[in-house]
Formats: sequence, C-alpha cells, structure tokens
Amino acid sequence: MNPRLWIKSPLAIYTGTDQDARGGIVVQGNRIVEVLAVGQQPAQPCQNTYDAREHVVIPGLINTHHHFYQTLTRAYPDALNKELFPWLKSLYGVWAHLEPEMHALATRLALTELLLSGCTTAADHHYLFPAGMEQAIDIQVEEARTLGIRAVLTRGSMSLGEKDGGLPPQSTVQTEEQILLDSERLINRYHERGEGAKIQIALAPCSPFSVTTDIMRESAVLAERLDVRLHTHLAETLDEEAFCQQRFGMRTVDYLESVGWLSPRTWLAHGIHFDDQEIQRLGQAGVGICHCPSSNMMLASGICRNRELEAAGSPIGLGVDGSASNDGSNMINEVRQALYLQRLRYGASRVTHFDAYRWATAGSARVLGRDDIGTLDIGKQADIALFRLDELRFSGSHDPLAALLLCGAQQADRVMVAGEWKVIDGTLPGQDLHQLMAQHRQAAKRLAAKAMASH
Ligand SMILES: [Zn+2]
Repeated sequence: MNPRLWIKSPLAIYTGTDQDARGGIVVQGNRIVEVLAVGQQPAQPCQNTYDAREHVVIPGLINTHHHFYQTLTRAYPDALNKELFPWLKSLYGVWAHLEPEMHALATRLALTELLLSGCTTAADHHYLFPAGMEQAIDIQVEEARTLGIRAVLTRGSMSLGEKDGGLPPQSTVQTEEQILLDSERLINRYHERGEGAKIQIALAPCSPFSVTTDIMRESAVLAERLDVRLHTHLAETLDEEAFCQQRFGMRTVDYLESVGWLSPRTWLAHGIHFDDQEIQRLGQAGVGICHCPSSNMMLASGICRNRELEAAGSPIGLGVDGSASNDGSNMINEVRQALYLQRLRYGASRVTHFDAYRWATAGSARVLGRDDIGTLDIGKQADIALFRLDELRFSGSHDPLAALLLCGAQQADRVMVAGEWKVIDGTLPGQDLHQLMAQHRQAAKRLAAKAMASH
C-alpha cells in the first residue's frame, strides 16, 4: 500500500466542487482519496501530514496553449509594437534557424517557469520543423518526462509557404506526406491513454494561413482513426478572417466545418472573432476554446467571448500562448489577466475570481478532453498547487482566494503532480535555475546571430 499524505487544514481551498474541503485532502499514490470537511479526520490513518495552515490550495493549473520555443525570442526588437501578421513575418525568419539543443533548452525553461507558477499540465503547439528539427516533439517528450510535468504535446504543422500564398517562409514548411507520417509515428510511440496519462500527443496544423486545406482534412481523418485530439489557431485576428474570405470564400467557422473539424475532438486557440450564430454552432459541436488574454492584449487581437461560448456549450480553458507574444509563461498570472480582460468585456459583477479559477482548472481539463484532472475531488489525480501569502504584495489582504489573483501572485510554494512534489519551497529540487538561464540566454543569442547572418 502506498503511504497516505494528509494536506491538512489549508488557510483557504478552491476545489472546483461544492464540497467542504476545509479539513484538507488526503493523497495516496497518484490520486486524491479523501476530501475532508472542517474538523473532520481522515477515515484511515495517514503516514504523512503536511500542515497547510499558511497555504492557499487550488487544483494544479492547466495551460492549454503555448509555443515553448518562443522563449528564445522574447521582446525581440524587430517584432515589437506590431499586430499578428507583421509580428509573425518579423519572427518566422528567426525561428527558421531553430536547432535541437536550443529547442531542448527553450522547452526546459518554459516548463520550469510553468511549474513554478502552479501549472501541473501543459499543452504545447509546436509547428516548426525546419531541416534538422525532425525530432522536435521527441525532444519535448524527454524534457517533460525529466521534469515530471503532465504534457499534451501537439504535432503541429505548416504546409502552405509564401510561394503558394501562405504566410511562412518556404524553409519552414513540410510536405503533407512528411507531416502525416511523423504524426502517426509520434502517436504510436508516445501517446498515453486513460486515467493519469502523463504524455499525450495531439495533431495541430498551425492556422488557416499557414497550412493547406488537405492537411486540415487529413489531420482530422488521422485524429479520428487513432483517437487523438485536434488543435489549431482560429479567429485570432480580423486579418485571418479576411484571409479566409479571400482564399476559401468563407468565414473561419465555415472553413473549420468544411475540413471536418467541427467536433468535440477539437480545441481552438484564441477564438475571438465569432458572431452569435457561430458561437452557437461551436457550442453545439462541443469545440473547446483556449482563451489567451495576455497574448490577445499584447498583439491587440481582441477579446474572446468566454461567457457566451461557455453558455453555448464550449469548454473554456486558459493558455499563456507562446513566449514571444506574452512574453512570459506564468500561469497564475494568466488567471489574473483572464479575470481582468473578461471583466472589461462583461463587467466586474459578471466575471468573478471563481470563474477565472474554473477556466484555468476544470475548464482547461475539458478543453484537453480530460476528466481525471482539474478539480480536487475523490478519485482525481493528485495535481495540486499551494501558494503562500507572505509577500509584500499580499500584506493587508483579507479573502485569501481572491487575494491570490487580485494581489497578483507570481509563484507557487509547492506543486504536486500525480502525487509527487515537483516544487518545494518555491524551487525545483535538483535543478540549477541560474545554470539553465545562462544556457538558455546563450541559445537565444545564438539564434538571433544566425538570423542576422542570414539576412
Ligand atoms: Zn499560439
């Protein structure tokens, strides 16, 4: 029998359920086995107790959209102060020089940053496979396993280069055959199914303006055959809407339907520019939406209609998006950003801190098609984030759960993934963060130098 751990009497706890959990939770193996009301004792003896009286306890945060490699091009001079299309065009030529070692460091850095911010499951959208980068997803699997974070790694793709009317440079696109063969290889090799899965693979053509119609269609067929999820960017900007009208003669959701993607297997990053009727169609189909507030503000893309989409039936989750449009990977900070940006659209009384927590936890879990994570409930995976309120920013605060978002928490004190502590005292045991940053900085410099030299 695995030993039982009682995370006892938290200062405050958000479980995502209606249950009174003020007595804490009991973890055994990789699962939560008891949820205790105030004053209640565990039903069976616990070998270990963790006193959480100074901690705010929440389910591990779930990030549903990122591009880890972009940590190498944060605040990149050529890309500053631009909207999506010109911003992308400034960066594609830099990203085209990505190398395996740089990608490994970028992935390690992003995952470390996510873990420290209370994130226990991270999805990444990697669509960049220039020559030499054929092992990009294999590298990410290795890094996620080493850190012990849960990861949903999407095999992204770009197949529509500049010469065929797409946005990305030709050196960054692959043939449809290459993409589909590698997608199948990765699913067969790494995709775990069922409760507690630590590594999952999904298929993710990049966006309407960087992939062919055929790769959208074929990816949906392959996803259906191998039972994996589908992901892409959609309705992020009005430029994209104009592109779809011009190239396909239809709006984004019609395009999505025309390629077989209007399904509960699909989750979309951004999902900003939908009309009322499109929202109903997405909701009825059960298409998930990842809201990326910081990125949407940075690129001035617009504001996702979270409440209407959720009411229509779409799961709503959160994502930090790539680290060139955020430019951080801080998940607890992103929950705050979502709270505030959604308030700007709907008003302060219609978007509560509980809404924001729900999107980042149970909502994000549904977006990823998971029912074993996202709440602190009996039988769920023990993915838990604990925050302390002993920093200047929290001093004088009253409601601990509200304070975490309103006072702007930046870092978790403890994070557990599948019953194991991965963050202790605000750090990753055994990881030298200064060394990681030094190596990562060097990789970022080398990438920028390669891009300059090729001009
Ligand atoms: Zn993105």
